[in-house]
Formats: sequence, C-alpha cells, structure tokens
Amino acid sequence: MENIKNYINGEFLLPLANGWINNYNPSNGEVYGEIPNSSKEDVESAYIAAKTAFPTWSKTTLEERSRILIKISELLEANLDRFAETESKDNGKPISLAKAVDIPRAASNFRFFGNAITQFASESHESVGQNAINYTLRQPIGVVGCISPWNLPLYLFTWKIAPALAAGNCVVAKPSEVTPMTAYLLGEICNEAGLPKGVLNIVHGLGTSTGQAIIEHPDIKAISFTGGTATGAHIARVAAPLFKKLSLELGGKNPNIIFADCDYEDMLNTTVRSSFANQGQICLCGSRIFVDASIYEKFKKDFVEKVKALKVGHPSEADTNIGALVSKSHLEKVKDYIEIAKDENGTILCGGNEVTVNGYENGYYLEPTVIEVPNDDCRVNQEEVFGPVVTIMPFNSENEVLEMANKVKYGLSATLWTNDLKRTMKLSNQLQAGIVWVNTWMMRDLRTPFGGVKASGVGREGGFEALRFFTEAKNVCIKY
Ligand code: NAD
Repeated sequence: MENIKNYINGEFLLPLANGWINNYNPSNGEVYGEIPNSSKEDVESAYIAAKTAFPTWSKTTLEERSRILIKISELLEANLDRFAETESKDNGKPISLAKAVDIPRAASNFRFFGNAITQFASESHESVGQNAINYTLRQPIGVVGCISPWNLPLYLFTWKIAPALAAGNCVVAKPSEVTPMTAYLLGEICNEAGLPKGVLNIVHGLGTSTGQAIIEHPDIKAISFTGGTATGAHIARVAAPLFKKLSLELGGKNPNIIFADCDYEDMLNTTVRSSFANQGQICLCGSRIFVDASIYEKFKKDFVEKVKALKVGHPSEADTNIGALVSKSHLEKVKDYIEIAKDENGTILCGGNEVTVNGYENGYYLEPTVIEVPNDDCRVNQEEVFGPVVTIMPFNSENEVLEMANKVKYGLSATLWTNDLKRTMKLSNQLQAGIVWVNTWMMRDLRTPFGGVKASGVGREGGFEALRFFTEAKNVCIKY
C-alpha cells in the first residue's frame, strides 16, 4: 500500500483525527493506498506553520525566491519519470501524456513564476500640479489557500502554488482527494530545493472536510480554486462574508467551430486531440463540435474513422491513446450522459460502451464517443460531461453558429477553424469565452490571461494576472 501523509512545516505528518480515505488505481479499480482525510485541526496546524513562515518569506529577496522556485522546477525535471509514472497510476491518464504534458508543465509553472517575479513591477502616478507622487506597492497577502481538481493534478496544483509563493505568500494547499500522489511527492522536492519550512503546506482530504476547513478559515485571506461550477458557487458563498479574495476557475462546455475554408487535415487531427485528450477530461476540451453544413458529411465520416482508430488501453502502454477515466463514479456519470443523449434522439456515431482491457478488467475504460445531436438544446450539448464524449451538428451561417456557441451557461474557451480574417475577427470578438483559439487548440503561453466568463469562473490566472491576484495593491501618496 502506498499511504501518504500531510506535508506541514516541512515534515510529513499523520492526520490528527478524521481517519483515512482509500486511493484507487483507475486502471484496475484496486485500492492501492490510503490518504489522510484531514480535519480542521490539521488545517489549523498547516495555517500556523504558514503564518509563522510568512514574515521571513515575504521579506526574502526576489532573487532568492526565484532561485528556490527554479530549483524546484529543475528537480521536477530531473524526476520526470517518477512523477509521470505516479501521475498516470493515480489518474488513469496515458503515461505518454503525463510525461509530455503534465509534469513538464508543472516544472514550467515554477520556472515561469520564478522568473516572472523578478520582472513584476508596480505603477507610480505623479499628481501633476499638486506636488504629489503616488506609488503602488504590491504586497503579499499572507496565508493563502490553493485547491485543485483531479484532471491535471500536479499541473493545476502548481499553477496556483508557484505564483502564490513567488509573490511572497505562504500557502495551505489541498490537491484533489482523487489524485493526491504527485502533490505528496512535491513536498520532498520542496525540501530538497531548500524551500523554508512552513512556506508551503499540503493537506490531504475530502472537499467537504479538509477543503471546507480551508475556505472557512478566517485568516486564510485568499482562495484560488479550480474545480466544478457547483463547488465554486459554494466556495463563493462561504468566502464572501469573510471578505476573502477569490479566483474561481470552473467548468466548461466549449464550442469547436469548423468552417469549410479551414486547413482540413490540421483541423481534423487537432479536433481528435481537443475532443479526447486526457479522456476528454480537460476543462478546455472542445466538446461541442459545430461543422459548416457544406463539409458536414465529409467531416463526420473522416472524424469517426479517426476516433475509431484511437486505442483504449492501459495507461502505462506506450501506444495507448485513451487511458482510464479517473473514478468509478465519474465513469458512471459519463455513461449516464450517453443514455440521456440516446433518450434525446442523439445518434451514437461511434463508441458509447465500456471497454474491457485484458488483465485490467475492473479498470474504468470507456470508448471515445461521438454523438450526432438533433439540436443544440439537448442536455448533452448544454451540460458538462467531462469525459470522452463529444457532440457534432451542422450549421449554416456565422450568426447561427455564434448564437449556438454562446447559448450555454459556460464561457471558458472556444476554438475556431477558418482562414477568413473578417470572420475570425467578428467571431473572436463576439464569442462569450475567456480564451479563443483560432486554427489551434490548447496552445499556451504562460504570460497570457487564463480563465472563463459566465459559469466558467471569476478572475484570471497566468502571467502578471496571477501575481496581481496573489498581492494586495496599496497606494502611497506623498505630498512634497
Ligand atoms: P470538484 O469541484 O469536485 O473538486 C475540486 C476540488 O475542490 C477538490 O480538491 C475537492 O476536494 C475540492 N472541494 C470540493 N468541495 C469543497 C468544499 N466544500 N470546500 C473546499 N473545497 C472543496 O471538481 P473535480 O471533480 O475535482 O474537477 C472537475 C471540474 O473541474 C470540472 O468541472 C472541470 O471543468 C473543472 N476544471 C476547470 C478548470 C479551469 O481552469 N477552469 C481546469 C480543470 C478542471
């Protein structure tokens, strides 16, 4: 059994109360470890450690903070194989993906914010004619909370922690209870990199116990959260009367809009990826595919052919395209949506069934599924499925597809395939989304603002936006 502990004040500690939660391996359905279900008391210990470390860390020079963060990045890179294997086993994602994307990106997060903090600057405003100058300090907040989901475990965990630490805060962080393992290993790396004790504290446990204790803590002054929209709404309700700063990165139901004038092969290959990467469990996946009616039948045939060729298999096999879904309950949820789609007169063009992988019969495997929907109002087109399921339907005009694209409660990202400049400008201006990709998908530059509108969230992460979130602006006005 691979049991893990909390990382508090630089030490690995057993939970004080509340007991343990099983950790499942999605590839075979077996329990392979236990994780603490940390209580309020554990969160309090983490908070005290963070509070104690704050005066020194917040006064540590930017060069020194930067040096430590970059050292963490280098150690993650040096331990790529171990981290990738752990992530794949814990989450069910193909090891090839963990190796190429998840762990390198976690390392990049530390490197990026280690560098960014040395360039972060504030403004000054001369009050002309009044003999006064204003300058704005950007001061660390204090102890902040970071809570992350299971789909990109270390990638998203570090996307919050790195800017929080770079900005001079101390952190109480909780990874998803479904995928806690790489966050646990991160503690070792932080010690090796010389991160001072208490600057980062990692507590494990359920959202309803450990997470709740973090968001309710009166002295944890900011919460950076990535996860489901319903959880985000709950966190906002708890945090608002405590006047916490909040960053919420929530669900998505992203349109992938394909015009006949696009580069077809590039679009087709990228659309397979934007539909099914990480078993479709990426908040940015383009799960609603709208296709120009003039190429609809061709696209349908070519896309289904490519999707059928994807290999569902054990995450550790090099040629696996689709690994296991993260949990039994999530598999059931995704299967329920396939049934709902059938009830709503959707046509399953391919997939729709569980897959039995030899030797791993109890793993949570599902065929990549393409559903042709009769209209855009059906539930499978409006609600977040967050699995290897996409819908397709044709459209006849720019205005029609724009209306359908915007007619969901979410607004995270949108993808547009066209070579027409006017159309690109019109649609990218009018799509209700925080991120629009044109002729590409999930191409990331860490300096850019990242986040959603409507039910997809509040606030932006990335670049200086993240450093602004993790600092308080204080204006000083000097009359001379
Ligand atoms: P979730 O909301 O169930 O859980 C996310 C985290 O919140 C977990 O660590 C969980 O333990 C914690 N949590 C749950 N209840 C809590 C509470 N009461 N107080 C404090 N913390 C609590 O989400 P999930 O199922 O882990 O992740 C999937 C969701 O995340 C999807 O909706 C997906 O779209 C979204 N997501 C969004 C982004 C983005 O950048 N917008 C990125 C990845 C995933």
